[in-house]
Order: sequence, then C-alpha cells, then structure tokens
Amino acid sequence: MKAIRRFTVRTVLPESISGLGTLAANLRWSWHEPTARFFRELDPETWAAVREDPVALLGTFDRARLDALAADERVVEGVGRLTAELRDYLTEPRWYQGLDGSAPQAIAYFSPEYGITAALPQYSGGLGILAGDHLKAASDLGVPIIGVGLLYEAGYFKQSLSRDAWQQETYPVLDPHGLPLTMLREDDGAPAMVTLPLPDGRHLRAHIWRADVGRVPLLLLDADVPGNDDAARAITDRLYGGGGDHRLQQELLLGMGGVKALRAYSRITGNPAPEVFHTNEGHAGFLGVERIRELMDAGLGWSEALTAVRSSTVFTTHTPVPAGIDRFESLQVAHFLRAGLAPGVPTEDILSLGREDYAGGDPATFNMAVMGLRLAQRANGVAKLHGRVSRGMFAGLWAGFDTEEVPIGSVTNGVHVPTWVDPQVAEFVRGSLGSSAAAEPDWSRADELPDEDVWALRRRLRSQLIADVRERLRSSWLKRGAAESELAWTNGALDPDVLTIGFARRVPTYKRLTLMLRDPARLKALLLHPERPIQLVIAGKSHPADEAGKKMIQDLVRFTDDPAVRHRIVFLPNYDMRMARTLFPGCDVWLNNPLRPLEACGTSGMKAAINGALNLSVMDGWWDEMYDGDNGWAIPTAPASASPEERDDIEAAALYALIENSVAPRFYGHEETAGAGAAGPSQETGDGVPRQWVRMIKHTLAELGPKVSAERMVQDYVNGLYVPAAGSGRAATRGDFAGARELAGFTRRMRSAWSDIVVEHVDSVGIAEEPRIGDEFRVNTYIRLGGVEPSDVAVQAVHGSVSESDELTGTSVTDLSLAENLGEGRYLFSGKLHLERPGAFGYGVRVVPRHASLASDAELGLVTNAG
Ligand SMILES: *Cc1c(COP(=O)(O)O)cnc(C)c1O
Repeated sequence: MKAIRRFTVRTVLPESISGLGTLAANLRWSWHEPTARFFRELDPETWAAVREDPVALLGTFDRARLDALAADERVVEGVGRLTAELRDYLTEPRWYQGLDGSAPQAIAYFSPEYGITAALPQYSGGLGILAGDHLKAASDLGVPIIGVGLLYEAGYFKQSLSRDAWQQETYPVLDPHGLPLTMLREDDGAPAMVTLPLPDGRHLRAHIWRADVGRVPLLLLDADVPGNDDAARAITDRLYGGGGDHRLQQELLLGMGGVKALRAYSRITGNPAPEVFHTNEGHAGFLGVERIRELMDAGLGWSEALTAVRSSTVFTTHTPVPAGIDRFESLQVAHFLRAGLAPGVPTEDILSLGREDYAGGDPATFNMAVMGLRLAQRANGVAKLHGRVSRGMFAGLWAGFDTEEVPIGSVTNGVHVPTWVDPQVAEFVRGSLGSSAAAEPDWSRADELPDEDVWALRRRLRSQLIADVRERLRSSWLKRGAAESELAWTNGALDPDVLTIGFARRVPTYKRLTLMLRDPARLKALLLHPERPIQLVIAGKSHPADEAGKKMIQDLVRFTDDPAVRHRIVFLPNYDMRMARTLFPGCDVWLNNPLRPLEACGTSGMKAAINGALNLSVMDGWWDEMYDGDNGWAIPTAPASASPEERDDIEAAALYALIENSVAPRFYGHEETAGAGAAGPSQETGDGVPRQWVRMIKHTLAELGPKVSAERMVQDYVNGLYVPAAGSGRAATRGDFAGARELAGFTRRMRSAWSDIVVEHVDSVGIAEEPRIGDEFRVNTYIRLGGVEPSDVAVQAVHGSVSESDELTGTSVTDLSLAENLGEGRYLFSGKLHLERPGAFGYGVRVVPRHASLASDAELGLVTNAG
C-alpha cells in the first residue's frame, strides 16, 4: 500500500547529548571531518545506509538507543567537545574581521542551485557546487554573506540506466522537515511569508527555509505551501524542470521573492541588510527589479533607482554557450510584470533591461544575461579566458569600444579545499610536514613529501575508489535487470595497479563525453595494452530534455558493456557529490576535453589536483591559465579552420597519442626504456616508484593547491568586487541618494548631448624621423564639445602595437589634459606619449564621459573616436 501522506517526526534528544542536534543542523559537519567522523562512528552501518546524512541518522535512533548513547561517557564527551568547537568556529574573528570599515556589513549571494552536501540535493552540476563552495569558503573566512535560493521539492533527478543503456530519471520527493533546515518564523510563530502577485488575480506565496552553512545563513524559498493553488505550488517542484512560464516564475520568485525574503530575514533577526548583491549567473536577475521597486516606492525616479541598484550589484556570468543563457519572450515577461509584480515601475523600462537591442540580437527577446549586465556596475567571468570570451560575446552592449575594454573582468573559480580534499591526503600532508590543523593543508612544502609515501597513498586512494566502483557497478546492473549470478565479474572490475583516468561531469554536447570513442579500436588498444594499460571511470547526468546527451551516454555505456573491456572501463550512474568525493582522489589522471572555449572554468579538475591527480585537458577554462608544462598535459586544440568532424578527429588523435606516448609511460616508469620491451613497473628506479610521476604530483600540490582554493576566490571577490561595490553603493545612497541622483543626472545629460561631440583635428608634434625607444612626442587634439563641459569628459590617446590593417593591440590609455579653451565649445587637449616598445606603433584619440562614480571608461557605452 502507498502512503497518502508522509511527514517526518523529529527526534527529541536526551539532555546530555542534545548537542548532536546542533551538530546535525549546521552543515559545517559536511566539511569538518572530525564531526563527520563522529557521526559515522556512532553507527557506521546506518551512516552508510542513510548516505552520510546526520539528520537521517539521528532519525533512525529509537528511545532505547538514544538513552544508551546519552549514558555513554565517550559520546557525551565527544558531543561536548565538538559543540564547543562549533561555537568557537561560529563566533571567533576570522580573516574578514581584520578588514577595515570599507568592507560591506553584509552581502547577499543569489544562485538558482546550491551544492553543499549530497544530503541536501539542491544542485545539478558545477554552478551549484561552486555556489556551495563559495558559501563554505565565505564561512571559513568570516565573510558576512547571506545565500538566497529556492528549495526544490525533488531537487535534481536521480539517474539510473535501462537495460539498453538509456538514462532513466526519477525524482524522489524531499520532505523539508527531514532536511537540515529550519523555517523562518515571525515573532508570533507564524511562518514568514513572501507573496508575489500572478496574472488573473492569482498569488504565489512562499515559505523561507534557512540552512546554516557554517556561519553563513542560506535562505531557500519554497512555494509548496498552503494557500497556493496547485500550479503555484509546483513552481518549486524541481530544479530546471520545465521551460517557459515555469522557468520564468522560478526566476521571478528567486530574484524578487529573494529580496523580499532578505528583508523579512533582516526584520526578524535584526541582522544588517546587505550592502552588496551578487548574482551567480543571470537566473536571479529580477532581484535588481525588486530593489528598483523598493527605491521608486521610496520616491526615487527610474534612472536614480537604477543607478543606485547598479552601484551595489555584482553579476557573474558563467557560460559562453548561448544555449546556456536564459531567454524569454518580452511579451511573456510583460504578461507577468503587468500582474503587479513591480507596482510603480514602468514595465517598458524593465523590459528595456533585457532587450537584445544591439547588432545580432533579437529585440523581441528578454535576455537574462543582458539584464544582469545592465543591472550591475561590476561584472565578471569565471576564468581569465572566460573573461576574454565574455567580453567578445557581450561587446555589442558597448559598441565603439575595443573588446578588451568591455567592462567584464574575471575571477577564476576555486574549490572548497576542506570539502574536496580526501581526509587521508590532508592528514598525510599535515603529518609529513608537521603543519597545524588549519582548514587547508599548507601546500607550500609539498615538494618535500617522501616519494614512497606519496605513491603508497595514491594506491590506497585508487583502491578505495575501486571498491566503491565495484559496488556501484553491481547495483547498477541489478537495476538494469541482471541476475546476481551474472555479476561475479564486477568483483574483478578495475585493477588497483593500473593507471586510472577519470571523466565525470554533466553531459551537454560541448563537453564531448564520447570524444574518447572517436576511434573505438584505438581506445580498446589503450585499455588492453599488455604493459601499460589504462582504465577509465566515467560518470555524468544528461539534462532530461537533452536527447543528444542521452544518446552519448548510451553509446558510451554500450562500449563499456563489452565483456572484452568491461574490466577496464566503467560508467557509474548518478554522479553526485558523494561519488565525486571518492572519484577525484582515486584517479591518477583527470580528463577534460570540451570544445574550447566553451568550458567557462571547470572545477572538477581542481578537485582532482588537490588530491594529487594530474590533469589531462584541453586548454580551456582554468587549465588555460594554470597549466605550466609540469602539472599535467595539454590536449592541443585543432585549428579554427577545421570542420567540427575534423576537429573531433584531430583532438581525439592527440588525446590517444598523449596517453600512449607520455602519460602511460611516465605512470609506469617506462620512460627511459619505452619501446625497448619494457617489462613492468619500476624500470625507473627498481623500487616501483615512478619518480617523475610523483614529482609531478608534488609539483601539482605545491603550485595548484593555493591557486585553486575557494578561499583565494572569495578573497578575490571581496577585494576586487564586494568592497568596491560597497563603496559605490554608499556613495550612491549617502545624503538621501544624492550620489545616485547626481550620477543619474550626469548620465542623462551625457546621453542627450553626446552626439554633439566631434574630434576635429589631431596633431603629433616632435616625432623624430627615425623614432627610437625612449623618445617622446606630443599629441594635440582639437575637440568640439557642444554643450558638454570639459570636466565631464576624458580625452584620451589609446596607443599600442599596430597591425597591417591598422588595428591597435595591447593598448594603453593616456589621458590628455585640457590646454586651452578655444571658445564656442571648442577645446585643445594635449599630452605626451612615450615610445616604450620597438616595432610598429600607432595611436588613436577618443572622448569618453568621466565621472568619479563610474567604474570604467566604457561603463555608459558612450564614446567618440577620432577619424
Ligand atoms: C565539481 C562537480 C561538478 C562540476 O564539474 P565541472 O568540471 O565544472 O564540469 C559537477 N558535478 C559534481 C558532482 C561535482 O562535484
């Protein structure tokens, strides 16, 4: 019989161990190994059975069991010690508390998904896990972030396979009462409620659940509440469930409802309101609309409100894949807005924020990334290469400026080390080098780790992965309909002494899951090589609506089903954080072969690296900036002239060749003797330790350890974006928004008068006939400014190397100064340029608006170029 209702009865813990509830309720346990270990040791079997979920573990204990625990001195002592440690962690000053008053009092961070632990399955892939890592690192650093998201009733789907290798999706329903969440309540005990009007007089109401991610509160809106009609209740049913209206309503709730939730949170808890709003990808962009509504409600005009909101908003773009950007029909957005979502804010103005009114855009489309950029004074991509690609992708919004000057910077993603480093690796580094028990191991002396111990640890981690793989393979085959008796082979799948290559990620086309299958015979030969075999562990979910992705999974799984290779290549269903934490440390090599430059950053390779795996990757995302020739291998990219088919052929061939000629020989220590009938491992030294390989591992830990850390990332956000945004925000709001009014007025004046500006004439004076390095010369520029004051503009020489087609590259900008008022709105600007580089030199002259509150010369998109 099926239950018609379900609910979760919360355990009441005896006094002496009541701290267990505190430890389970704060998600810090998910990255604090001593706490996680303590839960495991309470009951290792049940811990595994509940998939490492403390709330579920406590829920399995009956009265007698709880009384026994409460009477166990060691348990009571452990609970006391760990709760005291947690209290210290939550209250003691950390890195952020050492910053001065320019740091914001609170920062709101919006994301449609959060990957914090497998026990709170509210993520689909990299974007969510990055958001989780961001909050955790912020907590460790003491950064006063408040996370905002949605609580999905079924999270993302669980993946299994049919007999014929087709992806199957199931959506297990989560009961919030069985999750590590508490409901935000008003003083009278009633649930705090966010309400948004919908068309046809309907309403969307949502409760606010709070998760504690260490020191960071995470507010999750849940539409499955009494008072909503069925359609409204279904708005938070699944992560990235439907398209169209479903998706749009999710995003309206996340953005506009999210700001309302923050206001309720501040009102109820007395915590300071956020000074900076950071949106992780464009999905939450409507948060800016809600903030504009608040300000217009308080009496500001549209431009003033927009200016104030922009000043304190940070937008991070995450995808160079156009299909990855949310786009709606403008009419559809208008339909919802007209229900009264933003009373007092002209709908037409809101629509203009997302309009693709630039060359190549579709003016009937409402583009969430475009709105994100227009609502944020500061924006960034997630790796250096991705920053460059994004500047090109969105250059249409800043017509007239060179791509390099498009105001989108970059902060390279990082990974939360305490979450992703295997405890054995962390302990090994600490134990061998005698460093303290800080959150992150001190990688700086990793070069000194003893080779033999490194190699022995690698084998242990590989073996640990293999045990997990065999279990997962068996259970997958049972689900696919195999009988127990057919599955003896799974006990021999993979070999703890064979070079293990991992590949796991979502399965959109650009990540090319099946590139390795390009030449199946070649792959087979690598897997079955008599002296230097490889083995492959592969995992990944395809979006439920992506048939091409499912077909790729099917092709791959069918290959792995072949009895000739199934002991050397496996596909594991249901990739999630729990699998990932065994997979990354257990692999010797982490493979990544996206179509460059479509991988914005990629983080799984970083997680592999901090566990001593070497990366084998296309020069894309983070690898493009962190590959140093000695920490792994770069798969070359085919020339741009190649067709997609040729490109796959070329890059797959390069991949096979790298594995066969470089990776495998080094792993097996066969390098010196490769090709000369090598006879097994230990050719290099005779002791079985491949010295060159181990040297690369140690180099990887020492070099990449600090660079790939999410603490480094969050510090970059604080220093480079949050503190400046707080400064702009304060300048805009001070004195009843005097700053915002002033900048909005300036912007209006510039926009209306800009077309009057003309660069009439440019002279260079004093260039030698044969110019040499170190020479200088003067540039005189005659400008007609019309109604614009000279103090409102900068007249600039833009100079650098010049190509045959007269394109400037590697440019620098020098401001020219006002030398003479020639009358009638005409001015002479003048300045000196130095010749600092040999070769072809060129310069141009331009006029841009100049105001102390602008974050870049390109910000307003206004420019007049000479010539
Ligand atoms: C890290 C991680 C990802 C993201 O990996 P990418 O390399 O960025 O694609 C996705 N899913 C899980 C479970 C992860 O741990």
